[in-house]
Amino acid sequence: MEAFYTIQGEGFHKGTAAYFVRIGGCDVGCHWCDVKESWNAELHPPTPTQDIVSEALKHSDTVVVTGGEPLTWNMEPLTSALKERGAKVHIETSGAYELTGQWDWICLSPKKIKLPLKPIYKEADELKVIIYNKHDLQFAEEQAAQVGEQCILYMQPEWSVRDKVMPLIVDYVMANPKWKVSLQTHKYLNIP
Ligand code: SF4
Repeated sequence: MEAFYTIQGEGFHKGTAAYFVRIGGCDVGCHWCDVKESWNAELHPPTPTQDIVSEALKHSDTVVVTGGEPLTWNMEPLTSALKERGAKVHIETSGAYELTGQWDWICLSPKKIKLPLKPIYKEADELKVIIYNKHDLQFAEEQAAQVGEQCILYMQPEWSVRDKVMPLIVDYVMANPKWKVSLQTHKYLNIP
């Protein structure tokens, strides 16, 4: 759909310069999705893999594959081509589809309406649960119960309700310090 060089704004790698590749196509349907224009893959004609790889490596050796839902598609061709050229390859995924591709970092962000497939939980390096209301705190715990011990746990306020949910998250994380707070710092910085 698009690709751009910016600063990773959220989660474990926040503050790190990275090249983002946004893959078109997602049928998860989160009502608060901030990239709804990504949903219809037909609006985003395919780009040759080698073109994406060459452009990415002009900018950065850290490449974040996001969407849309990247795992709608087989990620093996793109990730193997990036890794052959020495890139570190990260994914941001809901985990709703089969995990394909070779990843140096998996950020799993589960969505209630289309839950992750079981195998990805143990592969996740980072669990990032978007908090829209207080019920999501319980959902976050249910999801955290399924990831591996090495997985870092984040709660991140959904942007449009951040002022309302941030106090909930702050109290929750102080009471349950296995969790960390993730903020969408790129939105505060007004960068992509
Ligand atoms: Fe949007 Fe991501 Fe939800 Fe798909 S999974 S609808 S891209 S927030």
